[in-house]
Amino acid sequence: MAEYDVAQICPNRHVANDMHIDFPEFNKDFCEKCGEKTITQCPSCEKPIRGRLRESMSLSKFEPPAFCRFCGKVFPWTERKIIAAFELARLSQFAPKNSYF
Ligand SMILES: [Zn+2]
Ligand SMILES: [Zn+2]
Repeated sequence: MAEYDVAQICPNRHVANDMHIDFPEFNKDFCEKCGEKTITQCPSCEKPIRGRLRESMSLSKFEPPAFCRFCGKVFPWTERKIIAAFELARLSQFAPKNSYF
């Protein structure tokens, strides 16, 4: 049976360690890129964040999940992206109108 490890990710979507359980020596309590505290579990339901698939020989890059698969809440990095998108939409109201619309 395929099993997933636990991922350690910072609120800015930087992956600190995608195999938190199997390779604890790579764990980082704080993000090396932005200095924010990393999390390994959902802030809402406290279930572990799914990390890399164990025994997978794939070297493909690990992509942090957007939503918690246990409670459906957005993770902090998704929430920040949504806020940024709203901000962008708000600012674009002041941009010149495109004549095609
Ligand atoms: Zn970071
Ligand atoms: Zn959750």
